[in-house]
Amino acid sequence: MKILVLNAGSSSHKSCLFDLTQASDASLAPSPIWRATLDWTHAEGQVELSAETESGSALNQSLPITDKAEGIAAMLNTLVEGETQVLDSLSDIDGVGHRVVHGGRDYVDSVRIDSDVKAAIQRLIPLAPAHNPANLQGIHAIEAILGDIPQVAVFDTAFHAQMPAAAATYPGPYAWIDQGIQRYGFHGTSHRYVAQRAANLLGRDLADLKLITCHLGNGCSLAAVKNGHSIDTTMGFTPLEGLMMGSRSGSVDPGILIHLIRQEGYSGDRLDQLLNKESGLKGISGISNDLRLVIDAMEQGHDRAKLAVEMFLHRLRREIGSMLASLGGLDALVFTAGIGENSALIWQQACEPFAFLGLNLQDNLGRSAADQDIATPDSSIRVLVIHTQEEWAIAQACLKSCSNLP
Ligand code: ADP
Repeated sequence: MKILVLNAGSSSHKSCLFDLTQASDASLAPSPIWRATLDWTHAEGQVELSAETESGSALNQSLPITDKAEGIAAMLNTLVEGETQVLDSLSDIDGVGHRVVHGGRDYVDSVRIDSDVKAAIQRLIPLAPAHNPANLQGIHAIEAILGDIPQVAVFDTAFHAQMPAAAATYPGPYAWIDQGIQRYGFHGTSHRYVAQRAANLLGRDLADLKLITCHLGNGCSLAAVKNGHSIDTTMGFTPLEGLMMGSRSGSVDPGILIHLIRQEGYSGDRLDQLLNKESGLKGISGISNDLRLVIDAMEQGHDRAKLAVEMFLHRLRREIGSMLASLGGLDALVFTAGIGENSALIWQQACEPFAFLGLNLQDNLGRSAADQDIATPDSSIRVLVIHTQEEWAIAQACLKSCSNLP
């Protein structure tokens, strides 16, 4: 089976192809045999296309293309032509899995795309105006290029869709519930994957575990996973709620926004820019949204960088504490994504306040290409560092949906 994964965004398209014929252990992610990116941000009227194969062949081209569907067609062409060719024909592709950001409350799992699913993604555009239109465009482009091939939507929100009402509802007016204003949560594909992988590493059944999964990348969120379901998470109606992030503020007093609107005349667009692009590690440090650069500056005595790292950690610990309360116990804390997979400083500092529970980390921790358990043998709580494999998880979900076909 050859499964194509497409992550269609507003400024870039990422795609990869998995050959699942030889995958023997479904819990271990194989490398894709081909991956490609379209970057629309380089120059007006042009797209940068890059593609590479597992065996190391690569190409980089600037193409005079502005139409997204035309760009996707050019990207898929590198599967069947030139140095990066890995297929004889595009008809060798058996199914396509799409990352779709918002599935609302209706989708608790991935789903085969039909006209109802497309209508739902369209209907949910007001909840994800930057992402759902791009995801829909990707689905239509694949239809145009590959015809009536099975396509599967894998929603970022699905893993959290069964959160209890007490965790999912905002304490605003009751009418918000009918308006769809509730907590949805995001990064669900990653939280679901690392939770299952944690169960495999621990040799336990996911249904018997209490886990806190920490997805710490440019965007950051935690999930409290109990019996295989997310019962609480830090992101909410949008990916802006919760932890401090690279350039996003995370949770702030909503009264600040009322103040800025009334006293400073801020518009919605200005607030959007401020909270999503000019806040978080970048806003506080004044250096970068990249934690590595902020930590380097802190180590050289930069005061704002130090404050940014301390705030990031303060909020991370506080939210781990609240997930702990939602779970009422903890078998393992799981770190994943760029920061979570790589930063020993964050592992150590995030875990430190939980030593009173018997959670202890090993000394001399370092990055590893393999997933690892970094707790001491006698720690009461396991601490796992797991490399997230969102593309592989999407391919697996697509395979599952395709195999369930009558
Ligand atoms: P995205 O959320 O865009 O997918 P990633 O999961 O790749 O991002 O995470 C990117 C972030 O990971 C970078 O901005 C950087 O801050 C962080 N990161 C990567 N490596 C390290 C490291 N060794 N130490 C600290 N932070 C790191």
